[in-house]
Amino acid sequence: MKNKILKIKSPVDGSLIGEIKFNDEKEIAEKIEKVEKAFKEWKKTSFEKRREYLKNLKKILFNERNEIAELITKEQGKPVIEAFIAEVLPSLDSINYLIEKGEKILREEKVKHFQALLSGKKAYYKFKPYGVFAVISPWNYPFAIPFIQIISLLFAGNTCVFKPSPVTPFTGQKIFEIIKKAEFPDGTIEIIQGAAKEGEILLSDKRIRGVLFTGSADTGKRVMEISSHTLKKVIFELGGNDPAIVLKGANLENTIKGITWGAMMNAGQTCASIERVYVEKTVYKEFIDGLKEEIEKIRVGNPFNFDTDMGPMTAKFQLEKVISHVEDALEKGAKIITGGKKLTEIGELYYSPTLIIDVNEKMKIIKEETFGPVVCVDYFEKDEEVIRKANYSNYGLTASIWTRDKDRAKRIAEEIEAGVITTNSHVYPFAEPESAWGGFKESGLGRTHGKYGLLELVQIQYIDFDFNNKPEIWYYPYKEKLLYLMGNLMEFLTAPNFFIKTKILLKFLPHIFYLNKHLNLKKVMPSLLRKLV
Ligand code: NAD
Repeated sequence: MKNKILKIKSPVDGSLIGEIKFNDEKEIAEKIEKVEKAFKEWKKTSFEKRREYLKNLKKILFNERNEIAELITKEQGKPVIEAFIAEVLPSLDSINYLIEKGEKILREEKVKHFQALLSGKKAYYKFKPYGVFAVISPWNYPFAIPFIQIISLLFAGNTCVFKPSPVTPFTGQKIFEIIKKAEFPDGTIEIIQGAAKEGEILLSDKRIRGVLFTGSADTGKRVMEISSHTLKKVIFELGGNDPAIVLKGANLENTIKGITWGAMMNAGQTCASIERVYVEKTVYKEFIDGLKEEIEKIRVGNPFNFDTDMGPMTAKFQLEKVISHVEDALEKGAKIITGGKKLTEIGELYYSPTLIIDVNEKMKIIKEETFGPVVCVDYFEKDEEVIRKANYSNYGLTASIWTRDKDRAKRIAEEIEAGVITTNSHVYPFAEPESAWGGFKESGLGRTHGKYGLLELVQIQYIDFDFNNKPEIWYYPYKEKLLYLMGNLMEFLTAPNFFIKTKILLKFLPHIFYLNKHLNLKKVMPSLLRKLV
Protein backbone atom coordinates (compact mmCIF):
# COMPACT_ATOMS: atom_id res chain seq x y z
CA MET A 1 0.00 0.00 0.00
CA LYS A 2 1.26 3.50 -0.86
CA ASN A 3 2.01 6.02 1.92
CA LYS A 4 -0.59 8.75 2.36
CA ILE A 5 0.46 12.10 0.92
CA LEU A 6 -0.92 15.37 2.26
CA LYS A 7 -0.85 18.73 0.45
CA ILE A 8 -0.04 21.53 2.90
CA LYS A 9 -1.44 24.94 2.04
CA SER A 10 -0.64 28.24 3.74
CA PRO A 11 -3.49 29.69 5.83
CA VAL A 12 -2.20 33.12 4.79
CA ASP A 13 -3.27 32.88 1.15
CA GLY A 14 -4.01 29.25 0.36
CA SER A 15 -0.77 28.81 -1.59
CA LEU A 16 0.82 25.37 -1.69
CA ILE A 17 3.73 24.96 0.76
CA GLY A 18 4.50 21.40 -0.21
CA GLU A 19 3.51 17.76 0.09
CA ILE A 20 4.18 15.61 3.09
CA LYS A 21 4.38 11.84 3.06
CA PHE A 22 2.98 10.06 6.11
CA ASN A 23 5.10 7.25 7.55
CA ASP A 24 3.75 3.72 7.48
CA GLU A 25 3.86 1.16 10.29
CA LYS A 26 7.11 -0.41 9.11
CA GLU A 27 8.90 2.92 8.88
CA ILE A 28 7.65 3.93 12.32
CA ALA A 29 8.93 0.66 13.81
CA GLU A 30 12.32 1.14 12.14
CA LYS A 31 12.64 4.67 13.48
CA ILE A 32 11.77 3.55 17.01
CA GLU A 33 14.37 0.82 16.73
CA LYS A 34 17.02 3.34 15.68
CA VAL A 35 16.16 5.71 18.52
CA GLU A 36 16.08 2.92 21.08
CA LYS A 37 19.52 1.80 19.95
CA ALA A 38 20.87 5.36 20.16
CA PHE A 39 19.57 5.66 23.73
CA LYS A 40 22.03 3.04 24.92
CA GLU A 41 24.94 5.35 24.08
CA TRP A 42 23.28 8.73 24.53
CA LYS A 43 22.36 8.04 28.17
CA LYS A 44 26.07 7.65 28.93
CA THR A 45 27.11 11.05 27.54
CA SER A 46 28.26 13.62 30.08
CA PHE A 47 26.36 16.82 30.76
CA GLU A 48 29.36 18.65 29.34
CA LYS A 49 29.00 16.84 26.04
CA ARG A 50 25.25 17.49 25.97
CA ARG A 51 25.92 21.18 26.55
CA GLU A 52 28.27 21.20 23.56
CA TYR A 53 25.51 19.91 21.30
CA LEU A 54 23.13 22.51 22.69
CA LYS A 55 25.66 25.26 22.01
CA ASN A 56 25.89 24.10 18.37
CA LEU A 57 22.11 24.10 18.19
CA LYS A 58 21.90 27.59 19.65
CA LYS A 59 24.17 28.95 16.91
CA ILE A 60 22.14 27.26 14.19
CA LEU A 61 18.81 28.41 15.60
CA PHE A 62 20.08 31.97 15.87
CA ASN A 63 21.52 31.97 12.35
CA GLU A 64 18.34 30.53 10.86
CA ARG A 65 15.91 32.56 12.98
CA ASN A 66 14.51 34.59 10.07
CA GLU A 67 13.90 31.57 7.91
CA ILE A 68 12.29 29.72 10.83
CA ALA A 69 10.02 32.63 11.80
CA GLU A 70 8.90 32.99 8.18
CA LEU A 71 8.18 29.29 7.89
CA ILE A 72 6.07 29.40 11.07
CA THR A 73 4.09 32.36 9.73
CA LYS A 74 3.59 30.74 6.34
CA GLU A 75 2.46 27.42 7.77
CA GLN A 76 0.60 28.50 10.91
CA GLY A 77 -0.42 32.11 10.19
CA LYS A 78 0.75 34.07 13.24
CA PRO A 79 2.37 37.47 12.57
CA VAL A 80 6.14 37.26 12.05
CA ILE A 81 6.65 39.34 15.22
CA GLU A 82 4.79 36.68 17.23
CA ALA A 83 6.82 33.94 15.56
CA PHE A 84 9.92 35.68 16.91
CA ILE A 85 8.74 36.60 20.39
CA ALA A 86 6.58 33.57 21.19
CA GLU A 87 8.43 30.80 19.33
CA VAL A 88 12.09 31.56 18.49
CA LEU A 89 13.00 33.65 21.54
CA PRO A 90 11.63 31.22 24.20
CA SER A 91 13.39 28.38 22.34
CA LEU A 92 16.75 30.18 22.48
CA ASP A 93 16.16 31.04 26.12
CA SER A 94 15.42 27.44 26.97
CA ILE A 95 18.70 26.31 25.40
CA ASN A 96 20.51 28.82 27.62
CA TYR A 97 18.53 27.65 30.65
CA LEU A 98 19.56 24.04 30.11
CA ILE A 99 23.18 25.03 29.50
CA GLU A 100 23.31 27.12 32.67
CA LYS A 101 21.02 25.26 35.05
CA GLY A 102 20.28 21.80 33.67
CA GLU A 103 23.14 19.94 35.30
CA LYS A 104 22.48 21.47 38.72
CA ILE A 105 18.92 20.11 38.58
CA LEU A 106 19.80 16.65 37.27
CA ARG A 107 23.07 15.79 38.92
CA GLU A 108 23.37 13.23 41.72
CA GLU A 109 22.10 14.33 45.09
CA LYS A 110 23.22 13.05 48.50
CA VAL A 111 20.50 11.77 50.84
CA LYS A 112 20.89 12.05 54.58
CA HIS A 113 19.05 9.28 56.40
CA PHE A 114 16.24 10.51 58.59
CA GLN A 115 15.84 7.32 60.63
CA ALA A 116 18.59 7.41 63.26
CA LEU A 117 19.29 3.66 63.21
CA LEU A 118 19.98 3.82 59.46
CA SER A 119 22.39 6.73 59.69
CA GLY A 120 25.42 4.48 59.40
CA LYS A 121 24.56 4.03 55.73
CA LYS A 122 25.10 6.37 52.81
CA ALA A 123 22.65 7.13 50.03
CA TYR A 124 22.14 9.26 46.96
CA TYR A 125 19.60 9.96 44.26
CA LYS A 126 20.38 9.44 40.63
CA PHE A 127 18.12 11.06 38.02
CA LYS A 128 17.97 8.61 35.16
CA PRO A 129 16.37 8.97 31.74
CA TYR A 130 13.36 6.85 30.85
CA GLY A 131 14.56 5.87 27.39
CA VAL A 132 12.68 6.73 24.22
CA PHE A 133 10.13 9.54 24.54
CA ALA A 134 7.39 10.26 22.00
CA VAL A 135 6.77 13.97 21.53
CA ILE A 136 3.35 14.54 19.95
CA SER A 137 2.60 18.16 19.20
CA PRO A 138 -0.14 20.58 18.15
CA TRP A 139 -0.20 23.20 15.40
CA ASN A 140 -0.70 26.42 17.35
CA TYR A 141 2.93 26.80 18.50
CA PRO A 142 4.48 24.33 16.09
CA PHE A 143 8.05 25.34 16.88
CA ALA A 144 8.48 26.42 20.52
CA ILE A 145 6.38 23.70 22.15
CA PRO A 146 8.08 20.63 20.64
CA PHE A 147 11.49 22.29 20.45
CA ILE A 148 11.64 23.07 24.18
CA GLN A 149 10.30 19.63 25.07
CA ILE A 150 12.78 17.85 22.79
CA ILE A 151 15.90 19.70 23.95
CA SER A 152 14.87 19.16 27.58
CA LEU A 153 14.36 15.42 27.21
CA LEU A 154 17.60 15.05 25.26
CA PHE A 155 19.49 16.98 27.93
CA ALA A 156 18.04 14.61 30.53
CA GLY A 157 19.53 11.68 28.58
CA ASN A 158 16.45 10.39 26.77
CA THR A 159 16.08 10.00 23.02
CA CYS A 160 13.07 11.05 21.01
CA VAL A 161 10.58 10.16 18.31
CA PHE A 162 8.79 13.35 17.33
CA LYS A 163 5.42 13.56 15.61
CA PRO A 164 4.45 17.10 14.65
CA SER A 165 0.87 18.04 13.86
CA PRO A 166 -0.22 17.16 10.32
CA VAL A 167 -1.35 20.80 10.07
CA THR A 168 2.24 22.10 10.50
CA PRO A 169 4.55 19.27 9.40
CA PHE A 170 7.17 21.47 7.72
CA THR A 171 7.89 23.42 10.91
CA GLY A 172 8.28 20.04 12.62
CA GLN A 173 10.62 18.92 9.87
CA LYS A 174 12.68 22.07 10.40
CA ILE A 175 13.12 21.27 14.12
CA PHE A 176 14.37 17.81 13.18
CA GLU A 177 16.75 19.26 10.59
CA ILE A 178 18.39 21.83 12.87
CA ILE A 179 18.90 19.25 15.62
CA LYS A 180 20.58 16.97 13.06
CA LYS A 181 22.64 19.91 11.82
CA ALA A 182 23.86 20.49 15.38
CA GLU A 183 25.34 16.99 15.06
CA PHE A 184 23.46 15.28 17.85
CA PRO A 185 24.41 11.61 17.38
CA ASP A 186 22.50 9.63 14.82
CA GLY A 187 19.24 8.28 16.22
CA THR A 188 18.94 10.62 19.22
CA ILE A 189 15.91 12.04 17.39
CA GLU A 190 13.70 10.76 14.58
CA ILE A 191 10.61 12.33 13.09
CA ILE A 192 7.35 10.67 12.11
CA GLN A 193 4.90 12.45 9.87
CA GLY A 194 1.27 11.58 10.27
CA ALA A 195 -2.00 12.15 12.11
CA ALA A 196 -4.01 10.19 14.71
CA LYS A 197 -3.37 6.79 13.14
CA GLU A 198 0.40 7.25 13.01
CA GLY A 199 0.32 8.69 16.56
CA GLU A 200 -1.45 5.57 17.81
CA ILE A 201 1.03 3.25 16.08
CA LEU A 202 3.83 5.14 17.81
CA LEU A 203 2.17 5.00 21.22
CA SER A 204 1.32 1.32 20.93
CA ASP A 205 5.00 0.42 20.77
CA LYS A 206 6.29 -0.80 24.11
CA ARG A 207 9.76 0.60 23.38
CA ILE A 208 8.35 4.10 23.81
CA ARG A 209 8.76 4.67 27.56
CA GLY A 210 7.46 8.21 27.90
CA VAL A 211 5.07 10.58 26.14
CA LEU A 212 5.16 14.33 26.05
CA PHE A 213 1.78 15.10 24.56
CA THR A 214 0.45 18.57 23.83
CA GLY A 215 -3.00 18.85 22.31
CA SER A 216 -6.69 18.70 23.14
CA ALA A 217 -8.02 17.08 26.30
CA ASP A 218 -10.02 14.54 24.26
CA THR A 219 -6.93 13.35 22.41
CA GLY A 220 -5.04 13.38 25.73
CA LYS A 221 -7.56 10.89 27.15
CA ARG A 222 -7.04 8.60 24.18
CA VAL A 223 -3.25 8.95 24.47
CA MET A 224 -3.48 7.98 28.13
CA GLU A 225 -5.61 4.97 27.31
CA ILE A 226 -3.11 3.63 24.76
CA SER A 227 -0.13 4.49 26.95
CA SER A 228 -1.66 2.58 29.85
CA HIS A 229 -1.20 -0.71 27.99
CA THR A 230 2.56 -0.42 28.36
CA LEU A 231 2.55 1.87 31.42
CA LYS A 232 4.39 4.78 29.90
CA LYS A 233 5.25 7.94 31.75
CA VAL A 234 2.82 10.57 30.46
CA ILE A 235 3.14 14.34 30.59
CA PHE A 236 0.15 16.21 29.21
CA GLU A 237 -0.22 19.85 28.17
CA LEU A 238 -3.88 20.10 27.19
CA GLY A 239 -6.57 22.65 26.47
CA GLY A 240 -7.64 25.73 28.36
CA ASN A 241 -10.57 28.08 28.76
CA ASP A 242 -8.77 30.70 30.72
CA PRO A 243 -10.42 33.39 32.83
CA ALA A 244 -9.27 36.94 33.48
CA ILE A 245 -10.65 38.69 36.55
CA VAL A 246 -10.85 42.47 36.59
CA LEU A 247 -11.23 44.14 39.99
CA LYS A 248 -12.41 47.71 40.62
CA GLY A 249 -9.48 50.08 40.99
CA ALA A 250 -7.42 48.27 38.33
CA ASN A 251 -5.53 50.43 35.86
CA LEU A 252 -8.23 50.05 33.23
CA GLU A 253 -6.18 51.37 30.34
CA ASN A 254 -3.43 48.76 30.88
CA THR A 255 -5.98 46.08 31.71
CA ILE A 256 -7.90 46.61 28.49
CA LYS A 257 -4.72 46.53 26.40
CA GLY A 258 -3.49 43.41 28.24
CA ILE A 259 -6.76 41.53 27.97
CA THR A 260 -7.15 42.38 24.29
CA TRP A 261 -3.68 40.99 23.60
CA GLY A 262 -4.12 37.97 25.90
CA ALA A 263 -7.35 37.03 24.12
CA MET A 264 -6.39 37.79 20.53
CA MET A 265 -2.69 37.07 20.02
CA ASN A 266 -2.13 34.18 17.62
CA ALA A 267 -5.78 34.75 16.58
CA GLY A 268 -6.82 33.41 20.00
CA GLN A 269 -5.33 30.02 19.21
CA THR A 270 -3.26 29.77 22.36
CA CYS A 271 -3.96 27.16 25.02
CA ALA A 272 -3.70 30.00 27.55
CA SER A 273 -5.77 32.57 25.60
CA ILE A 274 -8.16 34.60 27.70
CA GLU A 275 -11.59 33.27 26.73
CA ARG A 276 -13.67 34.52 29.66
CA VAL A 277 -13.41 37.87 31.44
CA TYR A 278 -15.17 38.55 34.74
CA VAL A 279 -15.36 42.24 35.61
CA GLU A 280 -16.43 43.77 38.92
CA LYS A 281 -19.86 45.31 38.28
CA THR A 282 -18.92 48.90 39.18
CA VAL A 283 -16.38 49.08 36.33
CA TYR A 284 -18.14 46.74 33.87
CA LYS A 285 -19.65 49.42 31.61
CA GLU A 286 -16.42 51.41 31.35
CA PHE A 287 -14.48 48.19 30.71
CA ILE A 288 -16.77 47.02 27.90
CA ASP A 289 -16.63 50.41 26.15
CA GLY A 290 -12.84 50.44 26.36
CA LEU A 291 -12.45 46.81 25.30
CA LYS A 292 -14.69 47.34 22.26
CA GLU A 293 -12.59 50.31 21.19
CA GLU A 294 -9.31 48.43 21.69
CA ILE A 295 -10.50 45.30 19.88
CA GLU A 296 -11.68 47.36 16.95
CA LYS A 297 -8.17 48.79 16.61
CA ILE A 298 -6.71 45.34 15.88
CA ARG A 299 -5.32 45.30 12.35
CA VAL A 300 -6.19 41.97 10.74
CA GLY A 301 -4.35 41.08 7.56
CA ASN A 302 -1.33 39.47 5.98
CA PRO A 303 0.84 38.28 8.89
CA PHE A 304 4.03 38.94 6.92
CA ASN A 305 3.38 42.71 7.17
CA PHE A 306 4.99 44.20 10.25
CA ASP A 307 1.97 46.40 10.96
CA THR A 308 -0.46 43.48 11.06
CA ASP A 309 -1.62 42.54 14.56
CA MET A 310 -3.56 39.42 13.65
CA GLY A 311 -3.29 36.96 10.78
CA PRO A 312 -5.64 34.19 9.69
CA MET A 313 -6.81 31.29 11.77
CA THR A 314 -4.67 28.26 11.04
CA ALA A 315 -7.21 25.72 9.82
CA LYS A 316 -10.71 25.55 8.37
CA PHE A 317 -11.85 23.05 11.02
CA GLN A 318 -10.83 25.50 13.77
CA LEU A 319 -12.58 28.45 12.12
CA GLU A 320 -15.74 26.32 11.80
CA LYS A 321 -15.55 25.43 15.51
CA VAL A 322 -15.29 29.11 16.45
CA ILE A 323 -18.26 30.01 14.24
CA SER A 324 -20.33 27.20 15.77
CA HIS A 325 -19.52 28.38 19.32
CA VAL A 326 -20.52 31.95 18.46
CA GLU A 327 -23.78 30.74 16.85
CA ASP A 328 -24.56 28.59 19.89
CA ALA A 329 -24.01 31.58 22.19
CA LEU A 330 -26.26 33.80 20.08
CA GLU A 331 -29.01 31.17 20.08
CA LYS A 332 -28.81 31.07 23.89
CA GLY A 333 -29.11 34.84 24.33
CA ALA A 334 -25.62 36.28 24.00
CA LYS A 335 -24.94 39.59 22.25
CA ILE A 336 -22.07 40.48 19.94
CA ILE A 337 -20.59 43.90 20.74
CA THR A 338 -18.08 43.81 17.93
CA GLY A 339 -16.83 41.30 15.33
CA GLY A 340 -18.50 37.93 14.83
CA LYS A 341 -17.92 37.60 11.11
CA LYS A 342 -15.63 36.03 8.55
CA LEU A 343 -13.35 38.49 6.77
CA THR A 344 -13.54 36.84 3.37
CA GLU A 345 -12.37 40.03 1.68
CA ILE A 346 -8.91 39.31 3.22
CA GLY A 347 -8.91 35.56 2.79
CA GLU A 348 -10.69 32.29 3.48
CA LEU A 349 -9.46 31.83 7.09
CA TYR A 350 -9.66 35.36 8.49
CA TYR A 351 -12.13 36.08 11.29
CA SER A 352 -12.88 39.38 12.98
CA PRO A 353 -11.78 39.87 16.60
CA THR A 354 -15.00 39.35 18.53
CA LEU A 355 -16.39 40.61 21.84
CA ILE A 356 -19.46 38.89 23.29
CA ILE A 357 -21.54 39.76 26.37
CA ASP A 358 -24.68 38.43 28.10
CA VAL A 359 -23.13 35.00 28.35
CA ASN A 360 -24.16 32.13 30.60
CA GLU A 361 -22.83 28.76 31.65
CA LYS A 362 -25.07 26.82 29.25
CA MET A 363 -23.13 28.23 26.29
CA LYS A 364 -20.30 26.29 24.66
CA ILE A 365 -18.33 29.50 24.58
CA ILE A 366 -18.20 29.46 28.40
CA LYS A 367 -18.12 25.69 28.99
CA GLU A 368 -15.65 24.59 26.33
CA GLU A 369 -12.42 25.75 24.74
CA THR A 370 -13.22 27.97 21.73
CA PHE A 371 -9.64 28.60 20.57
CA GLY A 372 -10.22 31.59 18.35
CA PRO A 373 -10.26 35.41 18.39
CA VAL A 374 -13.33 35.61 20.60
CA VAL A 375 -13.60 36.93 24.13
CA CYS A 376 -16.66 36.82 26.39
CA VAL A 377 -17.27 39.25 29.23
CA ASP A 378 -19.48 38.81 32.27
CA TYR A 379 -19.70 40.74 35.56
CA PHE A 380 -19.63 39.85 39.27
CA GLU A 381 -20.26 41.50 42.61
CA LYS A 382 -18.61 39.29 45.24
CA ASP A 383 -15.23 37.54 45.37
CA GLU A 384 -16.85 34.13 46.08
CA GLU A 385 -18.98 34.59 42.98
CA VAL A 386 -16.03 35.31 40.69
CA ILE A 387 -14.01 32.45 42.16
CA ARG A 388 -16.89 30.07 41.46
CA LYS A 389 -17.34 31.40 37.93
CA ALA A 390 -13.62 31.25 37.15
CA ASN A 391 -13.42 27.67 38.44
CA TYR A 392 -16.56 26.58 36.60
CA SER A 393 -14.58 25.18 33.67
CA ASN A 394 -13.27 21.61 33.44
CA TYR A 395 -10.00 23.23 32.41
CA GLY A 396 -7.48 24.94 34.65
CA LEU A 397 -4.47 26.01 32.65
CA THR A 398 -3.85 29.69 33.42
CA ALA A 399 -5.73 32.65 34.87
CA SER A 400 -5.01 36.32 35.40
CA ILE A 401 -6.13 38.91 37.93
CA TRP A 402 -6.08 42.60 37.04
CA THR A 403 -5.93 44.87 40.06
CA ARG A 404 -3.89 47.24 42.21
CA ASP A 405 -4.95 45.44 45.42
CA LYS A 406 -2.18 42.97 46.27
CA ASP A 407 -3.95 41.30 49.21
CA ARG A 408 -7.15 40.74 47.29
CA ALA A 409 -5.19 39.48 44.28
CA LYS A 410 -3.34 36.96 46.44
CA ARG A 411 -6.54 35.79 48.15
CA ILE A 412 -8.33 35.24 44.84
CA ALA A 413 -5.26 33.76 43.07
CA GLU A 414 -4.87 31.06 45.69
CA GLU A 415 -8.51 30.00 45.24
CA ILE A 416 -8.28 29.66 41.47
CA GLU A 417 -7.85 26.14 40.11
CA ALA A 418 -5.15 26.76 37.51
CA GLY A 419 -1.52 25.79 37.09
CA VAL A 420 -0.25 29.27 36.22
CA ILE A 421 -1.63 32.54 37.58
CA THR A 422 -0.49 36.03 36.67
CA THR A 423 -1.49 39.49 37.81
CA ASN A 424 -1.85 42.45 35.46
CA SER A 425 -0.55 40.41 32.55
CA HIS A 426 -1.29 37.08 30.88
CA VAL A 427 0.37 34.10 29.11
CA TYR A 428 4.00 35.24 29.43
CA PRO A 429 5.17 32.51 31.91
CA PHE A 430 5.36 30.15 28.92
CA ALA A 431 8.33 32.24 27.80
CA GLU A 432 9.98 32.20 31.25
CA PRO A 433 12.20 29.10 31.29
CA GLU A 434 12.17 28.98 35.09
CA SER A 435 8.38 28.84 35.49
CA ALA A 436 6.75 25.41 35.55
CA TRP A 437 4.13 25.22 32.81
CA GLY A 438 1.07 22.99 33.09
CA GLY A 439 -2.53 22.81 34.14
CA PHE A 440 -4.97 21.61 36.78
CA LYS A 441 -8.00 19.42 36.03
CA GLU A 442 -8.38 18.58 32.32
CA SER A 443 -5.67 21.02 31.29
CA GLY A 444 -2.94 18.54 31.89
CA LEU A 445 -0.78 16.25 33.96
CA GLY A 446 2.75 17.01 35.06
CA ARG A 447 4.76 20.03 34.07
CA THR A 448 7.13 21.18 31.35
CA HIS A 449 9.77 23.96 31.67
CA GLY A 450 11.94 24.84 34.66
CA LYS A 451 13.20 22.57 37.39
CA TYR A 452 9.95 20.68 37.80
CA GLY A 453 9.58 20.21 34.04
CA LEU A 454 13.05 18.72 33.80
CA LEU A 455 12.45 16.41 36.75
CA GLU A 456 9.41 14.95 34.94
CA LEU A 457 11.76 13.62 32.29
CA VAL A 458 13.79 11.41 34.60
CA GLN A 459 13.09 8.52 36.88
CA ILE A 460 14.43 8.86 40.36
CA GLN A 461 16.76 6.12 41.47
CA TYR A 462 17.63 5.82 45.15
CA ILE A 463 20.95 4.10 45.77
CA ASP A 464 21.84 3.11 49.32
CA PHE A 465 25.30 2.03 50.42
CA ASP A 466 26.08 -0.07 53.45
CA PHE A 467 29.69 -1.01 54.03
CA ASN A 468 29.44 -1.36 57.82
CA ASN A 469 29.96 -5.07 57.43
CA LYS A 470 27.43 -5.87 60.17
CA PRO A 471 24.23 -7.98 59.98
CA GLU A 472 21.09 -5.85 60.22
CA ILE A 473 19.49 -5.80 63.65
CA TRP A 474 16.15 -7.04 62.26
CA TYR A 475 17.50 -10.27 60.70
CA TYR A 476 16.41 -13.75 61.88
CA PRO A 477 16.33 -15.25 64.44
CA TYR A 478 13.91 -12.81 66.10
CA LYS A 479 14.57 -12.17 69.78
CA GLU A 480 12.52 -10.63 72.53
CA LYS A 481 15.33 -8.14 72.98
CA LEU A 482 14.67 -6.79 69.48
CA LEU A 483 11.02 -6.22 70.34
CA TYR A 484 12.03 -4.48 73.57
CA LEU A 485 14.52 -2.15 71.79
CA MET A 486 12.20 -1.31 68.92
CA GLY A 487 9.36 -0.64 71.37
CA ASN A 488 11.63 1.82 73.15
CA LEU A 489 12.63 3.37 69.85
CA MET A 490 8.98 3.99 69.00
CA GLU A 491 8.41 5.54 72.43
CA PHE A 492 11.50 7.69 71.94
CA LEU A 493 10.27 8.92 68.56
CA THR A 494 6.87 9.91 69.92
CA ALA A 495 7.94 11.20 73.37
CA PRO A 496 6.78 14.77 74.06
CA ASN A 497 9.93 16.30 75.54
CA PHE A 498 13.66 16.19 76.11
CA PHE A 499 13.46 14.65 79.65
CA ILE A 500 11.27 11.73 78.68
CA LYS A 501 13.36 11.14 75.55
CA THR A 502 16.58 11.11 77.62
CA LYS A 503 15.00 8.63 80.06
CA ILE A 504 14.09 6.28 77.19
CA LEU A 505 17.50 6.65 75.58
CA LEU A 506 19.16 5.51 78.80
CA LYS A 507 17.31 2.19 78.44
CA PHE A 508 19.48 1.45 75.39
CA LEU A 509 22.71 1.67 77.39
CA PRO A 510 22.68 -1.86 78.92
CA HIS A 511 22.35 -3.20 75.34
CA ILE A 512 25.15 -1.21 73.84
CA PHE A 513 27.25 -4.29 73.07
CA TYR A 514 24.34 -5.94 71.23
CA LEU A 515 23.59 -2.73 69.35
CA ASN A 516 27.20 -2.31 68.37
CA LYS A 517 27.13 -5.76 66.76
CA HIS A 518 24.51 -4.53 64.30
CA LEU A 519 24.83 -0.79 63.98
CA ASN A 520 27.47 1.79 63.18
CA LEU A 521 27.15 3.46 66.59
CA LYS A 522 29.60 6.22 65.69
CA LYS A 523 26.99 7.55 63.31
CA VAL A 524 23.82 6.28 65.00
CA MET A 525 24.45 7.82 68.43
CA PRO A 526 24.91 11.44 67.25
CA SER A 527 21.84 10.99 65.09
CA LEU A 528 19.76 9.79 68.08
CA LEU A 529 21.11 12.62 70.24
CA ARG A 530 20.07 15.16 67.61
CA LYS A 531 16.52 13.82 67.94
CA LEU A 532 16.50 14.66 71.66
CA VAL A 533 15.59 18.26 70.87
P1 NAD B 1 -5.09 17.54 18.82
O1 NAD B 1 -5.38 16.91 20.12
O2 NAD B 1 -6.08 17.42 17.74
O3 NAD B 1 -3.71 17.00 18.21
C1 NAD B 1 -2.50 17.10 18.89
C2 NAD B 1 -1.52 16.08 18.32
O4 NAD B 1 -2.00 14.77 18.62
C3 NAD B 1 -1.35 16.12 16.81
O5 NAD B 1 -0.02 15.86 16.48
C4 NAD B 1 -2.25 15.00 16.34
O6 NAD B 1 -1.89 14.46 15.08
C5 NAD B 1 -2.05 13.98 17.43
N1 NAD B 1 -3.13 13.01 17.60
C6 NAD B 1 -4.45 13.18 17.32
N2 NAD B 1 -5.14 12.07 17.66
C7 NAD B 1 -4.24 11.20 18.15
C8 NAD B 1 -4.33 9.87 18.66
N3 NAD B 1 -5.50 9.23 18.73
N4 NAD B 1 -3.20 9.26 19.09
C9 NAD B 1 -2.01 9.90 19.04
N5 NAD B 1 -1.85 11.16 18.56
C10 NAD B 1 -2.96 11.79 18.12
O7 NAD B 1 -4.78 19.07 19.15
P2 NAD B 1 -4.49 20.26 18.13
O8 NAD B 1 -5.75 20.65 17.47
O9 NAD B 1 -3.32 19.94 17.30
O10 NAD B 1 -4.02 21.40 19.15
C11 NAD B 1 -4.90 22.27 19.80
C12 NAD B 1 -5.09 21.83 21.24
O11 NAD B 1 -3.83 21.79 21.91
C13 NAD B 1 -5.92 22.82 22.02
O12 NAD B 1 -6.80 22.14 22.87
C14 NAD B 1 -4.88 23.58 22.85
O13 NAD B 1 -5.39 24.20 24.01
C15 NAD B 1 -3.91 22.49 23.15
N6 NAD B 1 -2.62 23.04 23.51
C16 NAD B 1 -2.22 23.00 24.82
C17 NAD B 1 -1.02 23.58 25.21
C18 NAD B 1 -0.56 23.58 26.64
O14 NAD B 1 0.57 23.97 26.88
N7 NAD B 1 -1.38 23.18 27.60
C19 NAD B 1 -0.23 24.20 24.25
C20 NAD B 1 -0.67 24.22 22.93
C21 NAD B 1 -1.86 23.65 22.57
